[in-house]
Amino acid sequence: MDLKRIDAAIASYARSGDQDLADRLNFFRGIWEIQNQYAQKAAGLSCCPSVEDLKQWYWSGEILLGKVSYEVAVDELAQIAADIAQYLVEQGSFDDDVMQTFKRLDWVAFLGTTDIALATKRPVDYLDSVIEVLKDNDALVRDDFIIVVLSLALRAVLDPVAHQLLDPIKKQVIKESVDRTKLTCCPVCGGKPAIAVVGKTEANSGNTRTMWCSQCGTSWDYERLGCPHCFTHNQEHLHYVNIDGDETHRLYYCDECQGFLRTTFDVAEIPSRNDVPLSFEVEDVVMAPLNLVAEEILN
Ligand SMILES: [Zn+2]
Ligand SMILES: [Zn+2]
Repeated sequence: MDLKRIDAAIASYARSGDQDLADRLNFFRGIWEIQNQYAQKAAGLSCCPSVEDLKQWYWSGEILLGKVSYEVAVDELAQIAADIAQYLVEQGSFDDDVMQTFKRLDWVAFLGTTDIALATKRPVDYLDSVIEVLKDNDALVRDDFIIVVLSLALRAVLDPVAHQLLDPIKKQVIKESVDRTKLTCCPVCGGKPAIAVVGKTEANSGNTRTMWCSQCGTSWDYERLGCPHCFTHNQEHLHYVNIDGDETHRLYYCDECQGFLRTTFDVAEIPSRNDVPLSFEVEDVVMAPLNLVAEEILN
C-alpha cells in the first residue's frame, strides 16, 4: 500500500473544502494505516513462480493465488481483524448492535471454525463460506460488519503477495495486444473490480482502462470500451451518470446485464481533475456515493 500517495491524494481533496469527504477519508486513513502495518510484516511468498508460468496463468484467466502455496495462520488473521474491529469501535459512530457484535466476538475461536486455507487461495469463495458459517451463529447479529472487517484484514495479508505475483509481469502484459475480455475479475485473487481508471498509469502511458481490486490491491489493464460484465459494445445500451456535474467520477452501467462500474479519469483525460494524485484507495472512497446511485437505478 502506498500511504504517501494516499496522503497526497487526501491533501488534494481537502483543498476542495468538502468536509464530509474529508471526514470519510480521515476515517479510512486509520484503516489503511493498520492494513499497511501488517502488510509490511507479512511473510509473503518464499519463492515466486517463473515469469513464463505467471504470464500463461494470467492470460488463461486463472487465479494466480490458487497456483502458489501461501497460507495465513488463524492467529495472524484474527489479530489484524481484531485491530480493525477495535478501530471501528473506537470511532464510535456505529449502531449498538455492531458494537455488541464486536465485543462478543473472539476472532481466534471464530476464524478457527472457518476454512482458513481457502482465505489465501480463493478469498472470494472464503468470504462466501464465512457467510454460511455465520448463518449458524445467532450471537453475532451483524454478519455484514464481520465480513467487511474480515475482508479488510485479508487485504493486509494478500497485498504483498499480489505484488510479488504481478509486478514481475505487469509491464510485459500491458504491452501485449491480446483479447483482455477474460480479465473481468482480478487476475490475482478473483475479486470483482471495485473501480476503474481511464488514462495513464505508472505501468502504462497509453489510453487504457485500468481495473482495481480492493480485496488484494491489484490493478490490471482491461479493454477501454464495452461492458466489463457482459462484453457488449452496443453504445446505445451503455450509459453513465455522475453526481452534481462532477465529470471526473462516473457510474457506468449497462442495460443488457445491469452491470455497474465506478470510473474515474486521470488529468490528461479531464483537466478539471487538477492535481489530485491517483490513489485507488482514495478514489474508492470518493466514489462511494455512486454506489447509492447504482442501487437507485437497480430498483
Ligand atoms: Zn484481487
Ligand atoms: Zn453488460
